[in-house]
Amino acid sequence: MKFVDQGQNFERVLCPFCNSVIEAEWWQAAMDKAQASSFNHLAVMTPCCGASSSLDDLKYELPAGFARFVLEAQDPKADLDDQQMQALAQIIGVGLRKIWAHY
Ligand SMILES: [Zn+2]
Repeated sequence: MKFVDQGQNFERVLCPFCNSVIEAEWWQAAMDKAQASSFNHLAVMTPCCGASSSLDDLKYELPAGFARFVLEAQDPKADLDDQQMQALAQIIGVGLRKIWAHY
């Protein structure tokens, strides 16, 4: 598993349960721990409200996430809308997440 980040489009990470901003220090420590398992174990307990979650389910602004593969378009001339994303996910057979990365 690989972490696909948004580069300079990173703003913050929020708790998916209570919407608290998750401190960068806590998130980095959780990422370091997960990296030791090559990101195969992503389970975390949120520091704000103690909910069971996953590093992949935290709310990344802008979106980021974990993936087994990446489909990448550099400097795309158009965006895919939700319907096109669903169609593509159906063709591939797995859920997809659009990540706008800027480096
Ligand atoms: Zn929370």
